[in-house]
Amino acid sequence: MSRSNRALDHLNRPLHQLRPYKVGVPPGDITVKLNQNESPFDLPDEVRTEILQKWQDIAFNRYPTEHPDELAARIADYIGWDGTGILIGNGSNELAYTLGLAFMSSGKRVVLPRPMFSFYERVATICGGEIVSVPPDTRLAFDTKRLLSAIRETNPSVVIITSPNNPTGLVVPLERIREIADAAPGLVLIDEAYIEFAQEPSILTILEQYPNVILLRTFSKAFGMAGVRIGYLIGEPNLLSEIRKIRPPFMIDRFGVCAVKQVLARPYLIRDRTEEIRSQTKELTQALQQIQGMHVLPGQANFVTFQTPCDSRTLFQMLAAAGVLVRDMNGYAELRGFLRVSTGTPAQNSLFLQELKKAMAQLTGQPGCNR
Ligand code: PMP
Repeated sequence: MSRSNRALDHLNRPLHQLRPYKVGVPPGDITVKLNQNESPFDLPDEVRTEILQKWQDIAFNRYPTEHPDELAARIADYIGWDGTGILIGNGSNELAYTLGLAFMSSGKRVVLPRPMFSFYERVATICGGEIVSVPPDTRLAFDTKRLLSAIRETNPSVVIITSPNNPTGLVVPLERIREIADAAPGLVLIDEAYIEFAQEPSILTILEQYPNVILLRTFSKAFGMAGVRIGYLIGEPNLLSEIRKIRPPFMIDRFGVCAVKQVLARPYLIRDRTEEIRSQTKELTQALQQIQGMHVLPGQANFVTFQTPCDSRTLFQMLAAAGVLVRDMNGYAELRGFLRVSTGTPAQNSLFLQELKKAMAQLTGQPGCNR
């Protein structure tokens, strides 16, 4: 970094520790994109048309409301909660910043079990929180015993759990979450970005008993709307109204509100698609398990994380060269040698499996390939 600009010396300190967030896409033509746990299904034509027709009448010159309460009420109806206990953000990542601003600062501890969606470590670092990192158990699941001791020993302001977890897809059973929520002295954030795909019930079923718990959800995954950027928090109305104070107004543009309303009006569409992705994920998991030497994690999301017997970085590059983009998990200390593939359409999944098998056949017998 050039030191010629004196403003650089005045950046907030944590920024020096960070690199810009990059998904990491190798050069070349990608025909099958399975690297960001997106839905493989875009919105049907009739829904797109309807959204665009509504968009015709939207006032470009006027601010939207400070917070889209009407959309919050629709979401509340959809999930069975109180609209005043919903806070909508510009994607759920943006809400993680809100919680960071509201709860994390120098001297406050943030308990983060590993391996965890890396964005939370980023937010805690930016806000100056003190990260208490808890290693996983031998199956790479969050280790509840260690988590509970970390909570007792460090008195954290925030504990974050992702269930189903990204990057592993593993869920935390409701009973374990209860124990964590009971033990935590402060906020427990449960990230449920992938909950629609899981068999394990949502914490929403017991949320009323835990006013210190907030759930985070998104329209980016099961709803297939990652391009629109809408996420939301669910929690106790008083707590959310305090948190609201820290947010800039007008964060949610009119287009996002309009698009999500149209999709929420079609629950059957989301139900069918979620079911299809679930069954495709199951097939993908089974197909990967059948490949000799593969270690596949039993996830409950819309992706599969697996350890390969051949060098995973080489496989990642070979797949990308064949036009198939997956995610290299080597950045996570516990997931060296792992790749993550998002569930695509049946055609995309079989192309991925075909190219993976081809690449592994080429590597078999070479150094770094144990099969
Ligand atoms: N939480 C988890 C666990 C995720 O994997 C992601 C996206 N990869 C998000 C939150 C963020 O989703 P968005 O900002 O699109 O709502």
